[in-house]
Amino acid sequence: MNDRTRPFKPGEHFDVYPGLEQDPYAARGKLPEPAVCKNCGAVHQGGHWRWQAPPKEAEQVLCTACRRIADGLPAGYVHIDGEFATAHHDEVMQIVRGHEARAKAEHPMQRIMSVDEDGTTTVITTTDVHLARDIGTTLKADFQGKLELKYGPGESLVRVHWRR
Ligand SMILES: [Zn+2]
Repeated sequence: MNDRTRPFKPGEHFDVYPGLEQDPYAARGKLPEPAVCKNCGAVHQGGHWRWQAPPKEAEQVLCTACRRIADGLPAGYVHIDGEFATAHHDEVMQIVRGHEARAKAEHPMQRIMSVDEDGTTTVITTTDVHLARDIGTTLKADFQGKLELKYGPGESLVRVHWRR
């Protein structure tokens, strides 16, 4: 199926993955094992990425997160806005960064790519859909507010909106 023939709908993001139903970075089966990321040192073994010493025979590759960062193609977007969020910006970002640090320690592919702030809205991009979702649910759990999640085709892209 070719997405290019479908009309663009607000909330969809064909501009990010034109014509792709599947996550272009999900090609886990194609990765050799064991493998080590030549950029960040994450090790791919047993179907998982972990922070560990690479086995001697590990093949040098670029991991999913480093590829997304190099390509500038996030898997997740977290939009944060609202009066409370603006007034408590530092506190909110502390929760976000704390969550990322814990997630990344256990799941090397879960990283924040960028943080854009314009004084009223903060947009965080992530290398992983789960991290974006979990940042949203963590903010809602800690501060209440309103949380919306919109998934793109194949659930390979998520747009999270937390407002308070
Ligand atoms: Zn890497």
